[in-house]
Amino acid sequence: MADNKNPRPAVEETIIIGSGPAGWTAGLYTARGNLNPLLITGNDYGGQVSLTYEVENYPGFPEALSGPELVEKMKEQAEKFGLTVEYDHVSEIVTDQHPFVVRTANGKEYKSKSLILSTGARPRFLEVPGEKELTGKGVSYCATCDGFFFRGKELVVVGGGDSALEEALFLTKFATKVRIIHRRDTVRACKILTTRAFANEKIEFVWNTVVTSINGNGSVSSVSTENTITGRAGEIKTDGVFVYIGHLPNNDLYHGKLHLDEDGHLITDKKMRTNVAGIFAAGEIQDKIYKQIATSVGQGCAAAMQTEKFLAEMESEGYHSAGMDAREFQESCTFTPQKAERELVLA
Ligand SMILES: Cc1cc2nc3c(=O)[nH]c(=O)nc-3n(C[C@H](O)[C@H](O)[C@H](O)COP(=O)(O)OP(=O)(O)OC[C@H]3O[C@@H](n4cnc5c(N)ncnc54)[C@H](O)[C@@H]3O)c2cc1C
Repeated sequence: MADNKNPRPAVEETIIIGSGPAGWTAGLYTARGNLNPLLITGNDYGGQVSLTYEVENYPGFPEALSGPELVEKMKEQAEKFGLTVEYDHVSEIVTDQHPFVVRTANGKEYKSKSLILSTGARPRFLEVPGEKELTGKGVSYCATCDGFFFRGKELVVVGGGDSALEEALFLTKFATKVRIIHRRDTVRACKILTTRAFANEKIEFVWNTVVTSINGNGSVSSVSTENTITGRAGEIKTDGVFVYIGHLPNNDLYHGKLHLDEDGHLITDKKMRTNVAGIFAAGEIQDKIYKQIATSVGQGCAAAMQTEKFLAEMESEGYHSAGMDAREFQESCTFTPQKAERELVLA
């Protein structure tokens, strides 16, 4: 943590926002690059990996490890090289002046010459009656966190992607039955998970079906459903509902400040640059295609390397942040927003 033993400079070289795989990797690389980085974790420490029961596809770990274990290893490695970790949530960033300003929920304010945004994504809600009221009372978005409470119970998992199948398989350790409700008639999960799920006797697929409400008084007792082809209504008795129907980018900080695409992801070029010079982004906040730990790690690495290059160029061009306004700063940078935009078109 940033404390009196480790006082922070008046102006940071770089601040990394988010403690998912992209953030830790950016922390590792910028620490090894001697930038004395500060990482602000956000409310969801460790990001989505912390919600993952078992990670089997991150290279270097042939014996699968749990998501929280992987987070601790990433943190330990980055801290070993000098990353400072602050357990706080960013409430505002100011991008139209330089140094940039970062304000947090704990009332802190930082100035920084560069930012690496790795705020990732959060689960998409079903948005049906009963979901909000019964969250934490049988409705969950994290099998790793809550699966244990459903020993000997029957469960429903909603979704048809990798996360849905992976977490349904995990839930079979506790539940007597897991019904996967999917709005289509095929899953879009990878083959190995699909094969395992089909082979698991506790798992049953409910195809072409959507959940229309979650029912229960103080705890979940059933879900109401609708067949997407026939329109027929139904009801499935269940003790719990685990929702895995995709993610929404955590972009609250960026509206009206940085360029977002139609789905709300930050737009970056191949060098992880946003439309503001000195602000980089990595991981699921800017990647809507791959959404993996390995790809987020790769993007965190690229963003860190570009940040180092940016700061070195700023230094060599004789830039001193004090007394310069945003326009002068942008003009003094190698990457002007105009140039970045042009490169975005070319990328
Ligand atoms: C259930 C589940 C299982 C998965 N299993 C696998 C798997 O087996 N293998 C695999 O490769 N991938 C898996 N994934 C996907 C993988 O977890 C993500 O691709 C990866 O975590 C994305 O990393 P990220 O760093 O971009 O962001 P995230 O992991 O989403 O982390 C975002 C971080 O940003 C922080 N943040 C957000 N807003 C703010 C703010 N305002 N201020 C400060 N911090 C903020 C959050 O606190 C969080 O720490 C799984 C995902 C889920 C949900």
